[in-house]
Amino acid sequence: MGTKKVIKFNNPVFTEHSEKYIADAFAQKHVSGDGKYTKLCNEYMRNKLDCREALLTLSGTAALEMAAILADLQPGDEVIMPSYTFCSTANAFVLQGAVPVFVDIRPDTLNLDEQKIEAAITPKTRAIVPVHYAGVACEMDTINAIAKKHNLLVIEDAAQAFDAYYKGRPLGICGDMGCFSFHETKNIMAGEGGLFVTNNAELAERAEIVREKGTNRSKFFRGQVDKYTWVDKGSSYLPSDIVAAYLYSVLEIADDIQAKRRKIWQRYYEAFAGAETAEKIHRPIIPAECSNNAHMFYLLFNNLPARTAFIAYLKEHDVMAPFHYIPLHSSPAGQKFCRTPYEMPITDKVSETLVRLPLYYDLSEQEQNKVIDICMEFMGKL
Ligand SMILES: *Cc1c(COP(=O)(O)O)cnc(C)c1O
Repeated sequence: MGTKKVIKFNNPVFTEHSEKYIADAFAQKHVSGDGKYTKLCNEYMRNKLDCREALLTLSGTAALEMAAILADLQPGDEVIMPSYTFCSTANAFVLQGAVPVFVDIRPDTLNLDEQKIEAAITPKTRAIVPVHYAGVACEMDTINAIAKKHNLLVIEDAAQAFDAYYKGRPLGICGDMGCFSFHETKNIMAGEGGLFVTNNAELAERAEIVREKGTNRSKFFRGQVDKYTWVDKGSSYLPSDIVAAYLYSVLEIADDIQAKRRKIWQRYYEAFAGAETAEKIHRPIIPAECSNNAHMFYLLFNNLPARTAFIAYLKEHDVMAPFHYIPLHSSPAGQKFCRTPYEMPITDKVSETLVRLPLYYDLSEQEQNKVIDICMEFMGKL
């Protein structure tokens, strides 16, 4: 009997250079923040996004918290966002005393429904937070137009949107501020890590300060001020250079990672065409103006019992396939801290029917075939 090999849902990337760069970070005798590798990562992302400022952070959560601080919210100010997202999207604003206001998602992209935003705007609304779910762009032209009309900030939760585009423009810099995640479950990972980006000069200047405990330490190191001191609100959001060294080793092979992930995504997509025609599942829909960064491959079942049985069947066959999210509007903290002006039928439905399949850099063709076979077996019984 052979040993059973479990196909995990995710597997972190560790490259040929990861160990070498981590050791080199030590050799630099600068293992706190903003050392050699942090600078390399920031520069890489600034070039990739063609943006004014890109600052490495401890996490995507930390980048969102920076954006929330920079938004200068007053207690009771409202921020519009989807309920179908990770809790950090809302938490960052709750920490500033603001109230997340939930809007339902589109049935095709599972992104904030731009047609429903204006109905949720009140005199207290200060910002819109589009979450680019699965790296597929929200309808940014419409969202930006609404924001302009009502004088609102646009803060992109681009946690899943590395190497993702809207009408050819990189996500993360389509609004006023953008937040990326390099958590180990994202395409590009540092274990824990994130990035804050902006094209706005004023926000860029303050972002550097907010990230450095509210001090002008970076200006001091550049010789722009003769002493460094506490000048604004802030916290400690910069990672150690060891984290950046690991991240840089992964960024170096980003093109390879992306090519591999897209190939895996496409194979899943093609494999389930028949199941979609047979109306057993739905596959992801990617509008023409959006790119596919292959962050996630998901299937939508017709109902909760079918999804529950599917996940159990996969687990029996040693394939790990998780679901998410419990809608924030129905979570205990969401009910306590947030406002839900309307029903959320799409969010509720997707939350009960979506399942994610294993998708990671070194998922072999053989492993993927096994996943597909088991899925097909299950669907044959539906
Ligand atoms: C992963 C994720 C985050 C949080 O990022 P961390 O780096 O884990 O803090 C926030 N929002 C969304 C949509 C995410 O997918």
